[in-house]
Amino acid sequence: MECQTCGKNAVGEGLVEGARVPLCERCSGYADDFSYYAPPKTSKKQPNTLPAKAIRVSREIAYDYGKIIAKARDARGMTRKELAAKLFIHENELASFEEGRIKPSETLAKKIEFALGVKLFEEIEVDAEAKAAASKKDGGVSLADVLEVKKR
Ligand SMILES: [Zn+2]
Repeated sequence: MECQTCGKNAVGEGLVEGARVPLCERCSGYADDFSYYAPPKTSKKQPNTLPAKAIRVSREIAYDYGKIIAKARDARGMTRKELAAKLFIHENELASFEEGRIKPSETLAKKIEFALGVKLFEEIEVDAEAKAAASKKDGGVSLADVLEVKKR
């Protein structure tokens, strides 16, 4: 709001020549029945507690699956040939897994987990908070924005 008389930031409203108009601090002295604007109320819509963190869990094969397989196989004193035979795959295929060149399929990875007693899958927590904050920005005007505008 701008002061009706001088154009400065209005702080309230008063009667000037019978009309109720916005006025600044200085011009308020000339007005009848001047009253200050109510201070901005804290929005009741604003929740006091933070919303629960939304976490999506995604299951993926560990990025160092090759090392995990090779280490576990070594620990069991198995050769690549022996383990490959157990998994009904070719030794070369197992080698490419251990060297991290090819990712085993989910089915095969589960077989390897079972055969070696290791965990190849990682549960990755995807924090949805950042995503929510980004979408909030597009979702219109926040209280902070309103206060920012009023200051000017
Ligand atoms: Zn004024």
